[in-house]
Amino acid sequence: MPACLLGLMLRNTVTIQRSKRLLLTTGLICEPLRDIPQRVNVMRMWMIDPKLLCRQHLLGEHGEIHKHLPSFRKRHSVSGRFSPVVQIQLNALKERHDELAQEMLRRGMNHKSPLANIPNLKETYPQYYDLNVDTHVSIRDLCQRCPKCRKRIENEKPCS
Ligand SMILES: [Zn+2]
Ligand SMILES: [Zn+2]
Repeated sequence: MPACLLGLMLRNTVTIQRSKRLLLTTGLICEPLRDIPQRVNVMRMWMIDPKLLCRQHLLGEHGEIHKHLPSFRKRHSVSGRFSPVVQIQLNALKERHDELAQEMLRRGMNHKSPLANIPNLKETYPQYYDLNVDTHVSIRDLCQRCPKCRKRIENEKPCS
């Protein structure tokens, strides 16, 4: 195949990918393209007492809240974050951030990142806003996945 033709094909592919991304970010297509990873796809708010989170999960949950704020501002889709378990709690973003930050300070870590300019999530995501994380599920999942969290949790009560 002539190099110029290959180059043209590659350029076209890039263009297609770019326009797909553009459509996604503008919210014109969201649901049908299941093969394309959702942008809000790693965030999980555990919502349990922050003292029970290991360092990694404490910093993780805190960081995810900051990281995903721009997506919420851009009104990205959050569908898929509430089934089979509720993974984010939109009505508690600020409060949760602040209690995680408090715990970070208590453990001698730095925190200099107040959560600012939170969009009106109730208006953006009315159908999801009132859904709450089930902390029993969080405890169960953390006990299964993370020995360090498990240890902290079991100091309080047995995991199962
Ligand atoms: Zn912060
Ligand atoms: Zn952990």
